[in-house]
Amino acid sequence: MDNQYKEELEKEERQECPIADSELCAWVGKNGCMPCYIRSMKDESDKQKSLENWKVMLSNLPRDIDSLHESDKCVLCKGKIHDTECYATVDMAHPEPKTMKGMIFGFGKKIRTPVGSLVTINMASCKKCKKEYTLMETFVWIFLVGMLALSLVLMMVPAIANPIANINEALPAGFVVGLTVLGYFLGKFFYSLYRKKISRDVKVDLLEIPLIRNMLDKGWFFFQDNKGMPKLFFSKKKTPGRLFCFEPKGEENVEKQS
Ligand SMILES: [Zn+2]
Repeated sequence: MDNQYKEELEKEERQECPIADSELCAWVGKNGCMPCYIRSMKDESDKQKSLENWKVMLSNLPRDIDSLHESDKCVLCKGKIHDTECYATVDMAHPEPKTMKGMIFGFGKKIRTPVGSLVTINMASCKKCKKEYTLMETFVWIFLVGMLALSLVLMMVPAIANPIANINEALPAGFVVGLTVLGYFLGKFFYSLYRKKISRDVKVDLLEIPLIRNMLDKGWFFFQDNKGMPKLFFSKKKTPGRLFCFEPKGEENVEKQS
């Protein structure tokens, strides 16, 4: 009985919704109308605007973008390709659709924000790529923290600390800072070495993935950019609710009402 009531309610909501059965509906409404954020919008024109924005965003994405997360083979592997065991995510942004912000309480000038679309791209990954990539990213920290700890331990040994302090009182602190900075540069050095080593088997440069390259050509850019390279996050499951499915499949398929 409860289910029937829910179905009736969904049907009513759907009839009134301006985005019903659109690509946007297939995406945001896959868990039903009740949790859909479009439903919570009061203004009808806002709902229409969301649909238009969504269409603009879709038009900027490569049509086969889904293959990045649907692949049962790792998309980061080079040479020997391993099976998909986890997912690497990267946030990508696009200047379209044109989005304005500013105007506090109606004052000020509206300015265009650089980000009109923001999507999380899930990429099929194997455990080996995840391990190699994660280790590479931690090199700087390992050396920085390691050298800091080492310098602090050394300064607790009187036979080493006392002669240094005798030269100048501030020298022990300088010694700690100096070794920590050295640790940072050592970390950077080993990061580069390790990156070079694993780049034979792992696409550490995401531009080597044709679909990502294709997105950059279409005007997308990495949202969290670190000298042109983004940070990857790995997880066992795909980032929920933020997958792209142009042609919804299985449970994500929305029944078309005739
Ligand atoms: Zn791999």
